[in-house]
Formats: sequence, structure tokens, C-alpha cells
Amino acid sequence: MSVKRSPLFIAEKDGVVICNLCPNFCKIESGFFGACGVRGNKGGKGIIPFYGFISALALDPIEKKPLYHFKPGSQILSLGFAGCNFHCPFCQNWHISQNTDIPGRKMEPSEIISAALAHDSPSIAYTYSEPLIHMEYLLDCMVLARKHGIANVLVTNGCINADAAAKILALTDAANVDLKCFSAQTYGKTLGGRAINSGVHLNAVLEFIKLCHEMGVHIEITTLVVPDLNDSAEELNAAAEFIASVDSAIPWHLTAYHPDYRWNAPPTNPDFLLNAAKNAKKILRHVHTGNI
Ligand code: SF4
Ligand code: SF4
Repeated sequence: MSVKRSPLFIAEKDGVVICNLCPNFCKIESGFFGACGVRGNKGGKGIIPFYGFISALALDPIEKKPLYHFKPGSQILSLGFAGCNFHCPFCQNWHISQNTDIPGRKMEPSEIISAALAHDSPSIAYTYSEPLIHMEYLLDCMVLARKHGIANVLVTNGCINADAAAKILALTDAANVDLKCFSAQTYGKTLGGRAINSGVHLNAVLEFIKLCHEMGVHIEITTLVVPDLNDSAEELNAAAEFIASVDSAIPWHLTAYHPDYRWNAPPTNPDFLLNAAKNAKKILRHVHTGNI
């Protein structure tokens, strides 16, 4: 499968590629890739060699995304990719998100739609690793899915810039967005993997959530509660207040962390999680716990 189109949201200047897709704004020299590992520079031109590279393909219950209020009880064809613009040290899918030398194969958008139709899947989820860094492929799949009456679902960290967000959300029916914490510092230093404390990552995610709601995309939010990282009462309360300020009917999934990748802290205490959910229910209508 050849790359069919130039990468979107890039600028090429003096042999350097500047990627404007997410707040990392990578300046990529020839022969290298940006922080996500999938958008690169070859001879001064932006390249997307992972266009159509699928690392995982499965039929999941939609509740596993998790989406509890969108087509409940249905199955959803779920696609995984390679790479991520974050480097969460507790990533549960780090095998595919932090590595691009992984098993998989290229699939045309038409093959994805055929697979969804063959399995009577009413929706397609772009998920597992971070889908938004594969913007060009997602757009091609989404246009085709819509033509066949198939719903498009994003499971994402929501960390892209506003113009890219508007483009993808115009074709999105539902999204589960990670609100990983409510701290600019944690987003920039611990999750983004770059020493940026300016708040650009947190702001991008908050704006993405607001835009989902404004554009009529069904949205649910997930926060993996990691002990001593994002579980202070102040931070959880600030996150709940933000969600309520957008719409108190937006479902919030508080999920339990377990040690993975580079993070060895003990798992989230189930009683702690249940209590956090009880507090959040004072201001949000739908709060769910998961991974217990
Ligand atoms: S999408 Fe990738 S290459 Fe582009 S700015 Fe973000 S991390 Fe960098
Ligand atoms: S944003 Fe998601 S896929 Fe990316 S590193 Fe973090 S947990 Fe993994």
C-alpha cells in the first residue's frame, strides 16, 4: 500500500518538517520521526509510512471501549495502530504505543469497512494505541464508514490541536476521551515525556472535550486513577467540576490502575475508587468504575 496523500498539518522549511498536528509541534530533521514515532521527514518532505498499518483487529463489546451510553449491547470492530504522542509510564498498551517495530499489516480503508460489514458491526473503533496521529488514514476510513452507515468511534487521549480536532470530529459519532489528570505538570512532564509545564497538553485535551460536545459527538470520559499521581481529592474534584461545566450528563469512567510498563506503584484500592465515584456523583449524573 503506498502513501496516497501528503501528511496533513505539516509545514516544510529548509529541509525541516514541522508537524502541527498536536501540541508537541515536533521539528523533524530528515531521516527522523516526531515524538509519536509515526510522522517523519525524508529528504525534507513529511512522510507517513504507517498509513494503514494495523497492529490489532478485534470485535469487542462496545462497553469495553468503555462506552456505556452509545449503542449499548453492540459489538464494535476495533483497530489498533502503532505509536503515540504521549509516553505514559503506566501505558497498558505500551507494546504497540511505544514501539513501531511491531507485528501487523497494512489494510486499505475498504478492507476495514468490508470487515465491519462482514461481522455486522454497526461501528468501528479507532483505539488501543493513539489513533489521532494517523489522521490521514482515519479520515479515509471514516468517510467510507459513513457512506455505509457505520458509526465512527474514537478512543483517544484527545491531545491534538484545534483545527485537526475540528476536522476529525466532523466525521466522528462517539468518543471516549482520556482525561488523564488535571495537572499541566503531569501532562507535560510525566505523560507527554517532555519537560513542558506550559499547560498546552492539558489545554488541548480540555478543548477537545469541549469541541466534542459542541459538535454533537457523543462523549464519555475516562480517567485511570493512579495512586499518588492523579488521585488527590483536589485533582479529582477539579476534573469532575470541569466535566460538569461542559455537561453534567457526560459519563465519567473512573478506572483502576494496575502496575504495567515502567510504573510499579501498587494497584488502585477498590474502596478508594468507589469512594471517588461516590463523590463525583454529587455533581455528575453518570459515574462508572472499571477494572476493579
Ligand atoms: S503528531 Fe507526532 S510528529 Fe506531530 S507534533 Fe505530535 S508527536 Fe510530533
Ligand atoms: S496516551 Fe494511551 S496509548 Fe498513549 S502512552 Fe498514554 S496510555 Fe498509552
